[in-house]
Amino acid sequence: MTKNIKSSSPTKSLSQRTIAVRGGLNSDVQHGAVIPKISLSTCYRFAEFGKPRQFDYGRKSTPNRDSVEQTIAELEGGVDAILTNSGMSAIHLLSVALLSPDDLIIAPHDCYGGSYRLFNSLSQKGYFKAQFIDQSDEIALQQALSLKPKLILIETPSNPLLRVVDIQKISDLAHQSGTLVLVDNTFMTPILQSPFQLGADIIIHSCTKFLNGHSDLLAGVLVFRDQNIADHVLWWSNNIGTANSSFDTYLLQRGLRTLSIRVLTQQESALKIVDFLVNHPKIAAVHHPSLSTTSGHDIAEKQQKGFGSLLSFELKASADQIPCFVEQLKIFTLAQSLGGTESLISHPTTMTHSGISPQARKEAGISDQLLRISVGLEDIDDLITDLKQALAAI
Ligand SMILES: *Cc1c(COP(=O)(O)O)cnc(C)c1O
Repeated sequence: MTKNIKSSSPTKSLSQRTIAVRGGLNSDVQHGAVIPKISLSTCYRFAEFGKPRQFDYGRKSTPNRDSVEQTIAELEGGVDAILTNSGMSAIHLLSVALLSPDDLIIAPHDCYGGSYRLFNSLSQKGYFKAQFIDQSDEIALQQALSLKPKLILIETPSNPLLRVVDIQKISDLAHQSGTLVLVDNTFMTPILQSPFQLGADIIIHSCTKFLNGHSDLLAGVLVFRDQNIADHVLWWSNNIGTANSSFDTYLLQRGLRTLSIRVLTQQESALKIVDFLVNHPKIAAVHHPSLSTTSGHDIAEKQQKGFGSLLSFELKASADQIPCFVEQLKIFTLAQSLGGTESLISHPTTMTHSGISPQARKEAGISDQLLRISVGLEDIDDLITDLKQALAAI
């Protein structure tokens, strides 16, 4: 079961910015509509008896999904992509498609909380085995790889401390053990990091974040550089039914058009906020890959095309002053997503990492004074003024 519009792409040599802007344009043969239509039909008329057309049933593929998959595959330099109804469903799909009960997956000890919970719960049910390690610890990595895992998940930079690990180095070691390398590229997007050029076999994104960029839909995507693996996972995606709706897919294509300009502008603002926070007397620490004090900064300099727009910082304050600071903010909204046009702030202890014991949080370097920011597209002076007045209030 292969999809057929992916093969001869006219945009192969174009820049990512152009690919994202032009994805799916001018595909309407009947009316010449510039913007692709939303195809709501779940079924497609056979061309003649026994002869399906390119599309037959919407769980398998639709014009909207095909178009976004092609755009994202091109942005990552892959051969194919599969869009799903959330980032978690993409990770779930891949684990079900690739792993059997005796197979092992290695994931970072500080991976996205949802991935941690998924691997943990499915391995407890016996679907596969999972092991969580600190991938910057070469001995732990070598030990884990000596078990010949089927899959290793790399997530860099990490959440919420923005630690960076070396994709090329881990991929090389993993391949020596016959292990497939999956990179979660959600935080960087294809604009700032190219995992396939660093040895990855498969890329996953939560499109809910930067790829859509407007915090109004859930979607995930798997991108492949091997067509055989893609076809195998595509069979499973149809088997399980992980597809998302045409309307959400249409919105995602719309969001993608501004991906490059959003990511670059948000990152520029993040650097200015980092600069402001680093020099502020009420800030104890700032975490951002641009800083030499952040673990993996040297790797980030060679591996990333930019440092991104997520950062975290610790307030020099008692834990009970945190609510006061956050409530004083007028622009930054207390919410736990990222990558949208709006600036968000989150408090890992009470939000994303509340399920982890205080002791485990402490060991992971997540203090009660830690706050994470996703920098949006608001005016940078307004953002800094907002932080300044809230810091003055504590
Ligand atoms: C949000 C996120 C996911 C999960 O994606 P959903 O779309 O929320 O299911 C996976 N990985 C990372 C790094 C994320 O930030």
